[in-house]
Amino acid sequence: MLTLDSFLPKEEECLNTLREIRWSNGVTCLSCSSKNVIKYGRYGIYQKYRRENCGSVFNDKGGTIFHRSRMPLRMVLHSLHDSIQGIHS
Ligand SMILES: [Zn+2]
Repeated sequence: MLTLDSFLPKEEECLNTLREIRWSNGVTCLSCSSKNVIKYGRYGIYQKYRRENCGSVFNDKGGTIFHRSRMPLRMVLHSLHDSIQGIHS
């Protein structure tokens, strides 16, 4: 039986793609750009991270222009992808 969910992309699947794009070079502290970060619980479906030395806490979505956005992740991905394409071209 088809449900509405069948037509909607899974946020978790989008999140995996978001992670691959954002952290393609490894998870990096948003404050000091260190890669020495640890996993620090969850924020909804997002993984949270903590950088011990500077105390910065952030998540998969944090620090992007979508940080406070309630935009569906698939829209976030399109925008993020476009911006990365823009940088490289
Ligand atoms: Zn830091």
